[in-house]
Amino acid sequence: MALNVLVTGGAGYIGSHTARQLVTAGHRVVVLDNFYSGHRWAVPNSASLIEGDVANGELVKRLLRDHKTQAVIHFAGHIVVPESVENPQKYYLNNTAGSLSLMQACMEMGVDKFIFSSSAAVYGTPEVLPAREDAPTAPINPYGWSKLMTEWMLRDLATSRKLDSARSDGQGGFRYVALRYFNVAGASIDGSLGQATPEATHLIKVACEAACGKRDGVTVFGDDYDTADGTCIRDYIHVEDLARAHLAALDYLTADGKSEILNCGYGHGFSVSEVLNQVRQISGVDFAVTMGSRRAGDPPALTADVTRIHEVLDWTPQHQDLAVICRTAHAWEKEGMSKRSETTAPSAHWLSSLLVI
Ligand code: UDP
Repeated sequence: MALNVLVTGGAGYIGSHTARQLVTAGHRVVVLDNFYSGHRWAVPNSASLIEGDVANGELVKRLLRDHKTQAVIHFAGHIVVPESVENPQKYYLNNTAGSLSLMQACMEMGVDKFIFSSSAAVYGTPEVLPAREDAPTAPINPYGWSKLMTEWMLRDLATSRKLDSARSDGQGGFRYVALRYFNVAGASIDGSLGQATPEATHLIKVACEAACGKRDGVTVFGDDYDTADGTCIRDYIHVEDLARAHLAALDYLTADGKSEILNCGYGHGFSVSEVLNQVRQISGVDFAVTMGSRRAGDPPALTADVTRIHEVLDWTPQHQDLAVICRTAHAWEKEGMSKRSETTAPSAHWLSSLLVI
């Protein structure tokens, strides 16, 4: 069933891949993005693009009403763990308070389906790996707390609030799927979309930049962890598979599925050293790797138990391969991104944002 979907942060990395898949699947997409880290070129032409902030309640309510929004997919948020340690209020304001404002608008306008970009950071340092969704949540950085608090708000709203009677088709009540992302990486297989955040901090992006000569090398943040090679282990998931999980979650909620929290990963991890070797091999560039000290807020290992997501959603990963993740990320870094940033000519999107604000 084609739905009217508001995608916050739809000009960003994961949001733009998802917006594209939504459009391809026939949904009518409105992207709301403040361009803090998003790009106009990343938004599909057939989506409506509105420049603005999720915390702007009046704007959001107007959008929900004018576009007869049936579901919200909420990506907009800050994502850099070390920055959250240094500047926690930025994370609580944008990620937590911004999400609350968006939820409030949904409540008022009778939007009953909500998909939220949560994070494996809510687990902190899990005692048992791979981590299950019912594992204790104990974030070790403000980023993780900002996401966990949003999960709590969603849980409580879904439990306590009946929809306003503003809309008649909301008899199922407010329901949500919180997707706990593990480490998202890679770029679209066709090379036309990828991560374009300046001053990126995420490992695969950083390694690809080094392989492309955009930085001198990579510093490994600690090789004295209690892991096989001493470097941290993460569960890397290809961005197109992650995007597809959002569409599956939307189908699930549309079919009256109840609220769920689901891990989004592949269920196995790779160490920092393994990732760097993979990028070196794929790029053919022996970029410099320096051993550094541990970074604040890093758990030694984080991998997903993916039993639940496979039970609940009709979701089959298609790029479950570190080589594919690194190859697409490298191709994007080498060629795709520069081609895209050249095409910044004003498009129909400019017009739509001017009209609405
Ligand atoms: N990492 C690293 N050097 C870098 C960037 C990341 O050693 O330049 C490590 C980081 O300490 C962590 C892993 O790579 O152990 C994944 O970090 P990333 O920032 O990509 O994602 P996070 O797990 O923090 O969400």
